[in-house]
Amino acid sequence: MKLVLFDCDGTLVDSQHVIVAAMTRAFARADLVLPPREAVLGIVGLSLVEAMRRLGEDDPRFPAERLAELYREAFRELRAEQDFFEPLFPGVRGVIDKLAARDDVVLGIATGKSQRGVAMVLGHHGLDGFFSTIQTADDAPSKPHPAMVLQAMAATGAEPEDTVLIGDTSFDMVMARAAGARAIGVTWGYHTTELLRQSGAERLVSDADELMRAIDEVWEAVP
Ligand SMILES: [Mg+2]
Repeated sequence: MKLVLFDCDGTLVDSQHVIVAAMTRAFARADLVLPPREAVLGIVGLSLVEAMRRLGEDDPRFPAERLAELYREAFRELRAEQDFFEPLFPGVRGVIDKLAARDDVVLGIATGKSQRGVAMVLGHHGLDGFFSTIQTADDAPSKPHPAMVLQAMAATGAEPEDTVLIGDTSFDMVMARAAGARAIGVTWGYHTTELLRQSGAERLVSDADELMRAIDEVWEAVP
């Protein structure tokens, strides 16, 4: 059995607009200056408190937990105020459908989102029931800790060499390799190709067709 694990933000869905909007609101309410957009997008994928700590450059006086709470509040408000949704990246739906149709593959998710956040995204896009295991910030330490991948493998019975993580950030690549799994980086997300390569991506793909090919090729290659 092969396990294909997807990151969510920046890999399946483009969530940058709502994330930046919620960050802007959270920092304003804390009377703090929002770091540059690039820095904000650079932490997408981490669990919320960990993400805030990084934005505060690990200064122990930085109010990371308070900001995480303000962010959650802002995210809820934005969802209620606007008809916003996080669109799937082009071709992603086809990749999921093709993989789901195979009987040698199970699908999973490993994300810094909450279970509730993932459920909303999947429900919106009609993807309920496609993923056998959903690992979130509610269930494990933040990426790049390998726990989410280890738990997903345990839940599905997949071996590390039969598991591939598909993600858009260095956190995903480091997490996958630390768990002994394979790692494919997508270049349509929030980290640079350079950073993905440096952090352990075995393959880099820039569209859905390339991704489908890379998934099969990575299993044929020696780890
Ligand atoms: Mg991501």
